[in-house]
Amino acid sequence: MIYENAPAKINLTLDTLYKRDDGYHEVEMIMTTVDLNDRLTLEKRADKKIVLKVEHRYVPTDHRNLAYKAAKLMIERYQLDRGVTITLDKTIPIAAGLAGGSSDAAATFRGMNHLFELNLSLETLSELAAEIGSDIPFCVYGKTALCTGRGEKLQPLPKPPAAWVVLAKPDISVSTADVYGALRIDEKGEKIATEDCVRALEEGNYSLLVNSLGNRLEEVTIGMHPIIQTLKETMQKAGIDATMMSGSGPTVYGLASKERQAKSVVNALKGCCKEVYMVRLLG
Ligand code: ATP
Repeated sequence: MIYENAPAKINLTLDTLYKRDDGYHEVEMIMTTVDLNDRLTLEKRADKKIVLKVEHRYVPTDHRNLAYKAAKLMIERYQLDRGVTITLDKTIPIAAGLAGGSSDAAATFRGMNHLFELNLSLETLSELAAEIGSDIPFCVYGKTALCTGRGEKLQPLPKPPAAWVVLAKPDISVSTADVYGALRIDEKGEKIATEDCVRALEEGNYSLLVNSLGNRLEEVTIGMHPIIQTLKETMQKAGIDATMMSGSGPTVYGLASKERQAKSVVNALKGCCKEVYMVRLLG
């Protein structure tokens, strides 16, 4: 039996450069992990089935689940003669912009690699991962990285300085496709400070880091869901160092250098958001 942790990710930056001929946006984003984890248990089966057990009413247990897709791809590609039972314990909010499903798939790739003693490198697992989702190679790697292409090309970066992360997930659902669809790529808004963010990580400079957070999609999603702006303002009034939306949203996160500061932001959010988490940056 193999246990795997699947941490959530946040975007320190997210920039979209142009729309490609294949329909994907060319992106440039710096992602890191936070200590909010789904947990997976993987066991070999006597038969060849893939059985996924998840106790969550919004999470599918069949081929639509990214963990199932990862297991299927591994079994087919490496002609494994046994199936697998995956028990998935969800903590990461669903459809939140925190890559929960992608991280579950990544944990499945890593777990199957151990369970079936395949000895595949992280590079090989990342290439497989890119076949089923753009964010999954980052989740396979699981550490801070600059992600380019459609998100699948990784360049490792130093982990961020220690910080608390307050995550606020409003009770709305956001379709990533709708957000990208509404994005006006020719009308460039504010510059996303990707290079400053890289420098902040290289220098371990927390104040430069909090000043370099950015997300090209934030304005688009706020236009559809003003609650995101309300959550940001609530965090700012309560003394957070910086706030940003993660991915295509709707989760908003804030960074705080002190525990006391993070706790007062959590308290301030109580009136306007039911799903709030206070965790550490993992990097
Ligand atoms: P991203 O940040 O990559 O956009 P997300 O956090 O917005 O991801 P997920 O929680 O990964 O979104 O899942 C979005 C949808 O995908 C869910 O509504 C669910 O139906 C489906 N799904 C597939 N696999 C999973 C999984 N392992 N966990 C949760 N949802 C999953």
